[in-house]
Amino acid sequence: MSTHPENSLQDSVNITKDDAITRLSRRKLLLASSAAAVAPAIGGGLVKTANAQQQPQRFEYPVDREARSAARALALEALLIEKGVITGDTVDTVLSFFETQMGPFNGAKVVARAWVDPAFKQELVKDTPAAIAKLDLPKGMAGAEGEHMRAVANSPTVHNLIICTLCSCYPWPVLGLPPYWYKDPTFRARAAREPRAVLNEFGLNIAPSVEIKTWDSSAQIRWFVIPERPSGTDGISEAELAKLVTPEGMMGVARA
Ligand code: FE
Repeated sequence: MSTHPENSLQDSVNITKDDAITRLSRRKLLLASSAAAVAPAIGGGLVKTANAQQQPQRFEYPVDREARSAARALALEALLIEKGVITGDTVDTVLSFFETQMGPFNGAKVVARAWVDPAFKQELVKDTPAAIAKLDLPKGMAGAEGEHMRAVANSPTVHNLIICTLCSCYPWPVLGLPPYWYKDPTFRARAAREPRAVLNEFGLNIAPSVEIKTWDSSAQIRWFVIPERPSGTDGISEAELAKLVTPEGMMGVARA
């Protein structure tokens, strides 16, 4: 496809309704694959204010938030094509990358290997990029902040949670794009201040005897969690184990 502005303008004019629907649904697919489908009821709790009054601190989104975001992205794409900044192929290339090269499917393979190979797990915690480099993973694992990743392992006595208090730093190579709630100021603040309560709102009840460690990602370090291997999975193949690993588990807001 030509990048000439006039041709690009023609591209945008030629977007049919079917094209638009296809692209919209593809974005929804991408959003789902990046764990954005999870919509926890974070923020329902009460917080103490300076004057000691209990006030609810909430962050709530309309139920059609994801559809609206996808529609906005589609409109932006059409505008960028119209202005000759990109072509439709540019967007498809980026989408393909997140669908096949960089996403939670990589993280699931890394975690599954850690579950079956204690030595690998040890190295994964000690030198995450070096351990990951030993696996046969897509090229999306290299670069794009992959060199800054660090893994932390859950245990019977420690549960780990990843956040970015500053913005939205996230280990793209193993998790893809962050879900919308990860970037929400209320989630970021409350997960640092009262992680146990926030996890409870995700439906994850951590026993009082288990320590919760919250890891703050940044431009220098991007954390992800190695969940505990689920019980009753002895004898299951590594490939089957990978199917049990969820993005939420690798963020620390779910068990696995
Ligand atoms: Fe950040």
